[in-house]
Amino acid sequence: MPEVSYDKAVIKDLIEARLSWEEVKRIISGYKDEDRFDKYLELLQEKVPWQEKILLPLTDELYIVEKGEERLVKCSCGHEFGDYRENWKLKALIHVRDSKEEIEEIYPAPYSSKPDLDLCEIREYYCPGCGHQLEVEAVPFGYPIIFDFLPDLDTFYGEWLGRPLKTRQEFADLSHQVIKKWQS
Ligand SMILES: [Zn+2]
Repeated sequence: MPEVSYDKAVIKDLIEARLSWEEVKRIISGYKDEDRFDKYLELLQEKVPWQEKILLPLTDELYIVEKGEERLVKCSCGHEFGDYRENWKLKALIHVRDSKEEIEEIYPAPYSSKPDLDLCEIREYYCPGCGHQLEVEAVPFGYPIIFDFLPDLDTFYGEWLGRPLKTRQEFADLSHQVIKKWQS
């Protein structure tokens, strides 16, 4: 396999969308440099004001981080959502748009194609720490809150990257634990 290595500055420009399409295409369709993921994590780590080690980004603002023995979802502002195996959206501030007026705030006239309120609602998720909008989903009424991404971190780090994390954790969706706590 040909050796490829891009400067960290190039990867930074790639992430921040400052490269031309020709350059992007050359990088993403070519062989990946061995340490691309590490450079990517280093750049993300430089962007956040806290020290916990980023294991994987979830969205532009959310990261899975290692904190002692725990793996938490953390916002760039520092707010912690708890165990990454629990859907963080259950601990976010949620705004549901399900009226004509609220839909028109984001689809003002003359928008002709807007969500059909007879069929669905729009849910917006905000960080309780900084108020940043973290995710939006349009779903049928009553549809369970979507768990967008639950990565198998032990397989990813241990088998793909060849450097297991310091502890192993059961790989399972633990979101029901959050709902159970609401009942007690
Ligand atoms: Zn935040």
